[in-house]
Amino acid sequence: MRACRYRAGQTPAEATAWQQDLRARLWRALQLEDLVLAPPVPLAESRVASESHTGFTRRQITLASTAGRRIEALVTQPTGINATQAYPAVVCLHGHGGDRFAVHEAGSIYKGFAAALTGHGMATIAVDVGQHEVYEPGRLLMGERLWDCRRAVDWLVAQPWVDAGRIGCAGLSLGGEMAMWLGAMDPHIAAVVSAGFLTTMDQMEQNHCLCWRFDGLRELVDYADIYALTAPRPLQCQNGLGEGPTQFHVPLARQALAEIEPAYADLGAPQAVSLHVHDGGHEIDLPALLAFFGDELAAGENA
Ligand SMILES: [Zn+2]
Repeated sequence: MRACRYRAGQTPAEATAWQQDLRARLWRALQLEDLVLAPPVPLAESRVASESHTGFTRRQITLASTAGRRIEALVTQPTGINATQAYPAVVCLHGHGGDRFAVHEAGSIYKGFAAALTGHGMATIAVDVGQHEVYEPGRLLMGERLWDCRRAVDWLVAQPWVDAGRIGCAGLSLGGEMAMWLGAMDPHIAAVVSAGFLTTMDQMEQNHCLCWRFDGLRELVDYADIYALTAPRPLQCQNGLGEGPTQFHVPLARQALAEIEPAYADLGAPQAVSLHVHDGGHEIDLPALLAFFGDELAAGENA
């Protein structure tokens, strides 16, 4: 179990080699290695609907995830763009029971964080990750979810009005899990907010949907090791004091954080990882999320 656990006290070169080796192992375990190694499938975007709002446009699109499967996405683009300005962007990820629209709903556990980011001049893209069926033969549930998130990044990178160096991701619960995976596995991601998810796999074996599991995962890592793949890029985990002992309990989050921090320290960025503990429950802390992305992604705006 956990054969690829991060060992503290490595040189930056050793830590980076550990990350590269673990990513390769995880791509194989996720049954995505063939997609990673193959030339990218064209995005083949199709526009379904477009609405103009004050300060932004909101579009529903479809795009190719693999050669044989298309996905739906909800996109917001700030307006008033001039030719020299490219915007930061965030991939926004929902949890169980939600969909790509949920992250825009203000009166929900998501606090409308995607809409709020749009209001702060950032592009967003939201995709569905809540399915519990495997779509294509030879794939895994978590693999298909992660690949769809990664294709959302590919779409952002392809937009001339998006700054490819300032792309983040954020999510709550299952969305926090997918933000963890996306930050870990896609180096385009410059900053991550993972809310309502930081814990240990032992805890997730209890009283939770087991859709996080797949063959070979626990043999390689615990969640802390996956988060350590994001180092030295900025990472904010959020856990609420209202989460009970069988949920995403703050003491377990602190325990997991202590196992992420060594990778950040070894890679020279001990301040880049944080656990934001808030007074709420299983929900986004919106002010902390906005402050984080304001610091990490929007700082270069208008530069
Ligand atoms: Zn599930």
